[in-house]
Formats: sequence, C-alpha cells, structure tokens
Amino acid sequence: MPMYPADPSLSSWLPIPGGSDFPIQNIPFGIFSAPGRPMRPGTRVGDTVVDLFVLAESDLLTSTGIPRVVLMETKLNRLLKEGAVSVRALRQRLIELLSEGNAELRDNDALRQKALVPASEVTMHVAAHIGDYTDFYSSRQHAYNVGCMFRDPANALLPNWLHLPVGYHGRASSILATEVNFHRPCGQFKTAPDAPPVFGPTRQLDFELEMGFLTYDGKPIGQRIATAEAEDHIFGLALFNDWSARDIQAWEYVPLGPFLGKNFASSISPWVVTLDALEPFRVPGPVQDPTVLPYLQYTGNKHFDIRLEVAILTASGSETIISHSNFKHLYWNMAQQLAHHTVNGCNVRAGDLMASGTISGDAPESYGSMLELAWKGTKPVKLNDGSERTFIQDGDTVIMRGYCEKDGLRIGFGEVRATVLPAIV
Ligand code: MN
Repeated sequence: MPMYPADPSLSSWLPIPGGSDFPIQNIPFGIFSAPGRPMRPGTRVGDTVVDLFVLAESDLLTSTGIPRVVLMETKLNRLLKEGAVSVRALRQRLIELLSEGNAELRDNDALRQKALVPASEVTMHVAAHIGDYTDFYSSRQHAYNVGCMFRDPANALLPNWLHLPVGYHGRASSILATEVNFHRPCGQFKTAPDAPPVFGPTRQLDFELEMGFLTYDGKPIGQRIATAEAEDHIFGLALFNDWSARDIQAWEYVPLGPFLGKNFASSISPWVVTLDALEPFRVPGPVQDPTVLPYLQYTGNKHFDIRLEVAILTASGSETIISHSNFKHLYWNMAQQLAHHTVNGCNVRAGDLMASGTISGDAPESYGSMLELAWKGTKPVKLNDGSERTFIQDGDTVIMRGYCEKDGLRIGFGEVRATVLPAIV
C-alpha cells in the first residue's frame, strides 16, 4: 500500500504553537468528551480538538465514504473496522479541511464554533475498546539487562530471544486512559530468597516505557499475515506504560510468565498517531544475526525514529526527566511482531493492542524501567528535589512523552501520565 506523508510545507488556519506535537501533518485520532459532548471521535491540531461527530453530522466527511454513524461512536472500533483505505481517506480529508486556504469550515462561523474545542476543556479516553492486548519483549538491551540482573551476563539472553519476538498475552480490562490514577497493588511476594512469601502492597512498583500499536482487522483465523503486508493492518501508535510490580512478578512468573505483577494497570496515551503521519521518520533496524526464519524476514525500513522520555513528578511538584530512549532501539519491529503473532493462524481483530516491551537503549540514561535505571535497587536515581528513587513511591506521577523531529517537522504523541495512590489494605 502506498504511503501518504503530508506535505511538510502545509500549514493550518488553526493556530499551532511552536514545538506542538500536533501540526496539520499529524492528524491523530482519539476519543474525547467535554461538557455537553459525550464521548466521541476527535482529532487534534495545535491546542484545538476537532469534533469528528460534528463534522460527520454536517456531512463534511461524506466524501470519505465512511458512513457518518461510524464517527458518532464512543470508541474507534467501528472506524478501525472500515480499514486502512478508509482511515487514510478520512485523514486526507481532515488535512484538506483544516489547511490554510480551505474555507469550508473556517468561514462557517456557526459550524466552526461547534466543531472546535480547546484541548484544555476535554477529557481524553482510551481510543478503542481493546479486545486483546499482547505485550512483546522486543528491546535487546532491556532483555539483556534483565538477564544480567536475574541470571548472568554470559547467559543474559535466553536461547530463543534472537530467533523470535518473545511475547505474552496481557490483560485488556485494566488499560487506563491518561490521568486515570490507581492504587498501589497488593500481592504475594518474597522479602528474602529463603523467607516464606508474604502478602501486602508491592514494594517494587515500576513503570515500563513502551509504545503500542492498535490494529485494524487482520485476516480470518487460520491465515497468517506476512511482514510485507503487516503494516496494512496497523492503525497507529500510542505511548504505553506497562506498570509492573517487580516483587510480585519475580515470585509468580515461573513457569507460565507474567500475571498479577502486570495486570493491575497499564496506561495508554490518548492520541493514536497513524503510520502515514510517521512515514518521514522511518529508519533501518539493527542487523539481525543470526538470520531469522523466512517468515520473519522483511524488506524496507520498518523501524521509526521516535524520541521518548520518562519523567517523575513528585507529590511536592518537582519534575525530573529520568530517561531518554527511542522507539528505534527495538530489535524486532512491528511487522515482525504481527507476522509472528499470526504465523500459527491466530487472528487479530480491529482494536487489538500490541505493545513493544520496555524500550531501553544502550546508554544507562536510556533505560526504560526503574528496575534498570536503579539497577535492581543498587543505584538510586536522584531527583531534582533532592530525593532518591529505586522504585515508584505513592504520590509519584509518571509521565511519558514522545515525538519525532526531522527537517523542522515535529510529529508527537503528547503524553501519558498517572499518579500512584496508596494501597488499599
Ligand atoms: Mn511490558
């Protein structure tokens, strides 16, 4: 499928502050609500949210061929079922409507006032009803770091790691919108290797810096998606914080993998940025050695240069950026993940979420979890208010941000944030 990056010279009649994540070339999709406006689809340009329910109702989007009821839903799933060609047409039409020089909406005072909402007035929601959520483990540095900590550097990567994108099936019910806070989870864990397990609030609450992609419908069950066609089934990307309780995880994970140490909460950013918007930021991936099996081989640039950061905002109001990473650090790209996920005939449905796994770069300041940044509690991370962290404390807000920038064009994701509340004991 040909890609359609927007003309970098385009501008909008809507104001776009310098450094905004949301120029006319972005046009992400999300679900918002505002006073007098129940949950509905929107896009964002600068600090303005554009109400797609209103535009559809006014027949301004008829040329896309998308039935207008699809844009009057409280989640994006019906839009995702329309597929990549329809979503591309919608995005192109929105770029047209909002471009400098287009008067259709700009000069219709009543409609314009109805269709535009200041971003400061909206509440953002999870964009889709996520049917199934899969979490991969696709950053080599992260897998190596964890292997060093829990095994030894000589055997840090398990034998399968360089041959397939390791993943597990996560829990979709506890994926939270940005600014939805949660209580520190309780569970069973050990306080010393030889001690019996205890029950209580986790003592090792951690974040995982990840990105996730939402899917269009895949193929019918039994059919596989090849790497060459995988991107046709990917709607777009969001920031993803896969909250983790390391002590619960360490005790429970053998032999079947992550469970209660992971499924209490994950936070997803609200605006889903399409692959079309990210097209200018493609980069080559790492050379894969050993050579992967044919179904995992791919051609073209299927990695993306997306700058990522993690900040801790303490209860006292002091913010410290504790990690700078990049989505391009992944060893396994999204096309390989989707090809692997379906190679056994497993079907993928519109609104499924596939997360990358913690994204750690080579440098210690690019590690994507507290486990790695503070190296299993041995190297506390200093914050700007003078305090230190080995894991996340009650009252801490973890914020993740991401954006691409090249030749003066910035396409961003905004942020995802959540505050950890005290455990309910
Ligand atoms: Mn994870």
